[in-house]
Amino acid sequence: MQRNASRTLTAVLCFGMMCACTETGDQSSNSPPAYAAAADLESFCERLPRPAYSNYQKHEVSNDWFEVYEVGPAIWAIYEPFQWQEVISYLIAGDESAVLFDTGNGIGDIKSVVDQLTDMPVRVLNSHSHFDHIGGNYQFEEILSVSTPFSLSKTKGVQDDEILLEVSADALCKGLPDGVNEKDHRTRPFSISGRIEDGDVLDLGGRQLEVLRVPGHTDDAIALLDRDAGFLWSGDSFYEGPIWLFAPETDLASYQESVARMAALAPDLEAVFPAHNTPRADPALLVELRDKLGQVLAGKIEPVPSADGTVEFRFRDFGLLLREDYYLVDQD
Ligand SMILES: [Zn+2]
Repeated sequence: MQRNASRTLTAVLCFGMMCACTETGDQSSNSPPAYAAAADLESFCERLPRPAYSNYQKHEVSNDWFEVYEVGPAIWAIYEPFQWQEVISYLIAGDESAVLFDTGNGIGDIKSVVDQLTDMPVRVLNSHSHFDHIGGNYQFEEILSVSTPFSLSKTKGVQDDEILLEVSADALCKGLPDGVNEKDHRTRPFSISGRIEDGDVLDLGGRQLEVLRVPGHTDDAIALLDRDAGFLWSGDSFYEGPIWLFAPETDLASYQESVARMAALAPDLEAVFPAHNTPRADPALLVELRDKLGQVLAGKIEPVPSADGTVEFRFRDFGLLLREDYYLVDQD
């Protein structure tokens, strides 16, 4: 039942994470919104990669599924521009080792891309264990995880209708890579090699990444923080687009606490690197997210019509997609 509902939602929400975000409340700027609606798949595909990518140096790699952009010093966004989720994984390098923060949908060969970017040892961390961020985990040996029941359940792999929808013609702007097909695509099993906790620091040599637990979107959600540089990788806890908060594994009270934690960092941040759509965002948006979420949960903002079972709130640079029953419960 839930899976079917989720599948229906995915289909109805036009193109996954890319749907239009048009401000319905306090339009505070005359500049155009970050996103405009695409009427159909063709017009969606014509807009990719998004204009924001023209701000970054494209790094040519021999791989026709991903595009790679250098979005900061020794920080590469590994973007999937041909699939409706528009997932972004990040390779973050120090002087001695690197971290791969997420491994994408598992449709393209992300290991071959990483191998072209660094010779150093690579540790994989996942922003959370939804299928679109753990798909390439099976290609790596060192995978560090906060190891919650949710994340552990995903190590076995995932094969269901929702995964198949992700490789259907409706989800794609180009053909699938060789060896991937609509009949048996799945998230492959992988092994967690080590455990991480909130506050752990990964020393990459000349760069330190701190692990922040930010549960809510899922119970295993983490963000990475480079305090010296003022960089925060937010995973799906924040991205420019409609933020999905309707899944059964989403806990809105935890999410609100986590958003407040990230927003409190904003004054010391230079950039936020989200896991979908655009690779570098203004940290002030974390504060706006905290404030808008608070208003939504206090019942002060009217939702716009959305797919059955959800309520949607649209702002200029992001949106919130909540399950109708969560929302109504929070109003009591
Ligand atoms: Zn995601």
